[in-house]
Amino acid sequence: MRDHFEIRDHDAAGRIGRLEVPRAGVTVETPALLPVVNPNVLTIEPERLESEFGAEMLITNSYIIRSTDRIRDRAVDEGLHEFLGFDGAIMTDSGSFQLAEYGDIDVTTAEIIEFQRQIGSDVATPVDVPTPPDADRERAERELATTKRALADAEEAETGEMLVNAPVQGSTYADLREEAGRHAAGTDLDVFPVGAMVPLLNSYRYADTVEAVRAAKRGLGPGAPVHLFGAGHPMMLALAVAAGCDLFDSAAYALMARDGRYLTVSGTEHLADLDYFPCSCPVCADHAPADLRGFDDAETERLLAEHNLHVTFEELRRVKEAIRSGTLLELVDRRARGHPAMLDGYRALLDHADELERTDPGSKDAFFYTSHEAARRPEVDRHRDRLARLAAPEKLLLTESKAPSDHEYDAVWRVKPPFGPYPPALSETYPLTAEVPERTDDAAQVAAAESVVALAAANPKTAVTLGHDAWCERALDRLPDRVETENLRTLS
Ligand SMILES: [Zn+2]
Repeated sequence: MRDHFEIRDHDAAGRIGRLEVPRAGVTVETPALLPVVNPNVLTIEPERLESEFGAEMLITNSYIIRSTDRIRDRAVDEGLHEFLGFDGAIMTDSGSFQLAEYGDIDVTTAEIIEFQRQIGSDVATPVDVPTPPDADRERAERELATTKRALADAEEAETGEMLVNAPVQGSTYADLREEAGRHAAGTDLDVFPVGAMVPLLNSYRYADTVEAVRAAKRGLGPGAPVHLFGAGHPMMLALAVAAGCDLFDSAAYALMARDGRYLTVSGTEHLADLDYFPCSCPVCADHAPADLRGFDDAETERLLAEHNLHVTFEELRRVKEAIRSGTLLELVDRRARGHPAMLDGYRALLDHADELERTDPGSKDAFFYTSHEAARRPEVDRHRDRLARLAAPEKLLLTESKAPSDHEYDAVWRVKPPFGPYPPALSETYPLTAEVPERTDDAAQVAAAESVVALAAANPKTAVTLGHDAWCERALDRLPDRVETENLRTLS
């Protein structure tokens, strides 16, 4: 744990935390969304970002400020907060993005950190090298070495109370990301952006995004505040938070508005195609799509940007509430239905159920089984691990039905897909209080069968009989021969 970042609540790998930003004199609640403010084009006034949208922190680009004569002197004289008219915390980017886009920039880490300190940035960024996805290995390693030197230069710089980002690079190589995360966590820098994500996000590669985040997190450890650089579409916030990200920045709200695009939690629509707004934010409550199309371009763009930001902050509040109520994975599951690529992202996240399990609370209010993906949730794994430690009697009946009125078993345990068997004493405990559909699916049956396997393996001397409700072949095939099975449907 770094002492300026405190974690309050957990769900999966998602958390509600508090990031202290001493130079701004504020504490920012995470997950937080930082609207990107282009110092040349204020689509929405920063003061309004705070008062109307609730932004506690924003991000702007110190490289653009430094290389634009018209604004540089003002930013230096007045300081960023006065210049932008924003009281909250301000993070500044360094020009790394420009480096990635144009191949060269004319500033060193030492110079840009000093400039960021001079203009009053609260969280500064060194000049790291954002290696794009799918770069060849040799390039990814070489550029990562340059990024590490940039972090060392940033550590040496005079920064006072200003926090400093330690970007984690490594392209699409999980081992490099992990190693970069471990290295960054070993510096005395403060916030950890997972970098070069924009190309992945722009091409909807959410599974690769999740893999990069998880790899970085394995290196960084659980106590580090993690920023998913360049991510701000409301559709993917729940997924990215569940994977362990704490900070997001949205340029999307303004960039998309410029192209007439309207963001929703399940994807992006075009204003030109809409007859109705599926939203009740101030913009959508006061206007129909046809009204917006009738305004001049600048007004349409501004109103679209406002809607885009409203819907993004609304989703962020929904994500936080889901963490508090222990329903974050249910929310991720719902969002995964918005686009097949989101479903890939959710499935990639579940590939790391063992990692999520470490921070997933042992008890929550409810578990809703609403998709076959839920059979791979960390709670199912955890119950299975617990079964492997339970002692079973000599003759044990496991059944999806009630105990028979007359029997010769030593004990009768209920079976509930996807969890599998459990002794009566656990019946009122999480997750066995789960709401599951009466018409169960193959994935739940297979998961339950694996739990029977775990219980039987832990109790080699127990004679196990399983009464199942017409389980699929795939589930029954998992069971060892010594587990006797009875199909309850044909029995009755
Ligand atoms: Zn709206």
